[in-house]
Amino acid sequence: MHRLVWTLPALAVILSACTLVPSASQPPTSTPAPQASVSAMHSVVARTKDPAGSPASASSRNPTALPTLPDAANGGPGRFPPTGHGRLDGKVILVDPGHNGGNFAAASVINRLIWNGRESETCDTTGAQSDAGYTEALFNWRVALYLTADLRAAGATVVLTRTSDTGVGPCVTERAAIGNEVRANAAVSIHADGGPPGGRGFAILEPVADGINNAIVGSSAVLGADLRAAFAAGTGEPVSSYDGVNGIQPRDDLAGVNLSTVPKVFIECANMRNAADAALVTSARWQARAARAIAAGLTAFVRSHR
Ligand SMILES: [Zn+2]
Repeated sequence: MHRLVWTLPALAVILSACTLVPSASQPPTSTPAPQASVSAMHSVVARTKDPAGSPASASSRNPTALPTLPDAANGGPGRFPPTGHGRLDGKVILVDPGHNGGNFAAASVINRLIWNGRESETCDTTGAQSDAGYTEALFNWRVALYLTADLRAAGATVVLTRTSDTGVGPCVTERAAIGNEVRANAAVSIHADGGPPGGRGFAILEPVADGINNAIVGSSAVLGADLRAAFAAGTGEPVSSYDGVNGIQPRDDLAGVNLSTVPKVFIECANMRNAADAALVTSARWQARAARAIAAGLTAFVRSHR
């Protein structure tokens, strides 16, 4: 307990992983919830047909229109069937939008300690935000919606760890467990960093062998390389100037990769504390572009790992 209290702020400075905003802070007021039809639980096992106006068709009409989830969901995990056929037919992709909009007001829940495979870690954190108060949780959520629509249109079943940006958690342990449970062909945790204002760029966070995840360390490195190449090509974003080496940062302190038994990486899409990157992450156009690039990286990986 004491160790965690003293080491977490240090980690936040050294590793700057989505800067740990104190959970007692006030929730930002300038971040309206996205308009997604996600009011009731969509079972992780449900496989229903989409109604008209699916994310794919909405997305093809206007590339920056935020896709909605097709079925009612209650904010918890959800499983969404394909909307089309293509290169991802038969594949299951786990999409984990980091943090959650409700975390700011739920310190007692998200500060609960969990075991991340190596050490104690908090259940979740609030995540980073831009200087103007645009939250990382909202950015992650919006990219996840674009990404989900893109993947489903290409034939994938997408499992989301949360289906709104107004809930709390789930704990990072559960985020890993959901991907394991559905035996995802690939899993990605979407984040944006709260790094030093002078630094910018994206980084891929990869697992380090800990026993539990040994079998997926190698494949996750391949996934990371595919994702790095696709994200750089698709967005033009440089690799991080301060996190990792050439855009790759192994991490042994994250439950999301410590506890995964399916190929998994985190992507820190940009640095929300950097003015140039902040302008990008708050742009719907860039969010959609980032999602398309992530979809391309996931596709390259699962196509080469049948
Ligand atoms: Zn984060």
